[in-house]
Amino acid sequence: MITLLIDNGHGKNTAGKRSPLMEDGRTQLQEWEFTRKVAQRIVELAPQYDIKPVILVPEEEDIALSIRAARANKYIRSNPAEKCVLVSIHGNAAGNGSAWMKARGWEAWTTIGKNNSDKLAEKLYDAAGKFFPAGTKLRADNSDGDKDKEKDFTVIKKASCPAVLTENFFYDNPDDCRYMLSFEGIDAIARAHLAGTIYYFTK
Ligand SMILES: [Zn+2]
Repeated sequence: MITLLIDNGHGKNTAGKRSPLMEDGRTQLQEWEFTRKVAQRIVELAPQYDIKPVILVPEEEDIALSIRAARANKYIRSNPAEKCVLVSIHGNAAGNGSAWMKARGWEAWTTIGKNNSDKLAEKLYDAAGKFFPAGTKLRADNSDGDKDKEKDFTVIKKASCPAVLTENFFYDNPDDCRYMLSFEGIDAIARAHLAGTIYYFTK
């Protein structure tokens, strides 16, 4: 059994983390809501990929990062027969959400140093290249021989299984934001995480 632990970032009480208003003067992407939509779509599609999805944060409120990691590790300990990986799902921003910015694209982060998380990230980049529209900018840091960027974010640092944090497009870029608000975008982001997980275990 392959299990995908889904850390859907932030909560409705998280300050900021939302796009400027769209052209209609009303629509606005909120990062916490976006990450929960992606998580829900992963749950819907997971059977097609023979993956067991586990949502680590069923709450709408934000949950402390160390508790998110503790939930993941408790699950891993309690289910030793399952092959677990973790994705921490986020949306990116180049500014503070008060103005539209130019930066666009998709990227993935692992902790500093080399381990299986780097392999998982590489497979997620492969899947991103397959599922996102042609011309999507896959933002990579190739300086250490792989594409992922590296920083010791709490959840992926503390998780006791391969773990990658994905920044799924920029909600403060109008074109990326439109994609993130669309069913097409949510669906493709969910599929990229599921397919990347399968590639990790099979390729
Ligand atoms: Zn975030």
